[in-house]
Amino acid sequence: MNYKTKLNLCGLKATPQRLMLMSELSKRGHLTIETIYQTLKVLQPMLSLSTVYNNLATLTERGLVRELAIAGERQVFELAQKEHAHLICRKCGEILDIGADYAAIRRALNVPIGAKLEDGDLIFNGVCPNCAAKKRSKTQNANVA
Ligand SMILES: [Zn+2]
Ligand SMILES: [Zn+2]
Repeated sequence: MNYKTKLNLCGLKATPQRLMLMSELSKRGHLTIETIYQTLKVLQPMLSLSTVYNNLATLTERGLVRELAIAGERQVFELAQKEHAHLICRKCGEILDIGADYAAIRRALNVPIGAKLEDGDLIFNGVCPNCAAKKRSKTQNANVA
């Protein structure tokens, strides 16, 4: 299904800004508002930050885009897709998707009686493969010297 159809199905007009937003998120994964704004501004110099902000809010509200529940001041968005966990690299800040069986995770949770879970994020801190590889090669170089 293309983005235009997806937008229309949610009762939204497929404006150029919304289409650009969705394709940028699909190409690059997890993005902050600032990154999205800087990228789209190159394509559309008249674009304002508030337009990006408003469109993101609308897309999030309609469930096409979701905001990651990351603590701190960073607001990160991604295209809504199958539920998955995340790894945030503490060296470079990169956010990686981790496939996860959310049905099994939900079953494993001790939810208080009477409470109802809605959506949530499973976010791990750690080191991404790139940074882990860098660290390994540095150690190797040190051994050579
Ligand atoms: Zn990293
Ligand atoms: Zn993700």
